[in-house]
Amino acid sequence: MGMNRSENMRRIRSKNTAPEMAVRRLAHGLGYRYRLHRKDIPGKPDLVFPGRRKVIFIHGCFWHQHPGCREGRPPKSNAAYWLPKLERNIERDKAALAQLAAARWEVLVIWECETKNHEATRQALLDFLGPPHLAGKGQ
Ligand SMILES: [Zn+2]
Repeated sequence: MGMNRSENMRRIRSKNTAPEMAVRRLAHGLGYRYRLHRKDIPGKPDLVFPGRRKVIFIHGCFWHQHPGCREGRPPKSNAAYWLPKLERNIERDKAALAQLAAARWEVLVIWECETKNHEATRQALLDFLGPPHLAGKGQ
């Protein structure tokens, strides 16, 4: 809201975005420990829980084209520029998910718009990761 596309893009493409920080704070508050952006794991997931063999992506709704989301629609103007770019992102995401599945990583994708609901995000983390206290070493 009140943001033009280029400001929006800059926000979404950078690391340590507000949605990412919100999820990190929630996960940390629940007692989970994680690694960030591990380059040796397909798709460089935002949060990695090595001991649980689980990863979380926090996807910007525009950049990753969140299905059914009002922010997840390609822009009408400059479509020749945006469509191939966005399609490449979607392909890249799909490839990463396939590689992660093949390597037996469990994946949770949290969309930017979902992170605004902290209670739902908190519950999603608990459901996906299981009880924090069962973590043990190197979770
Ligand atoms: Zn969304």
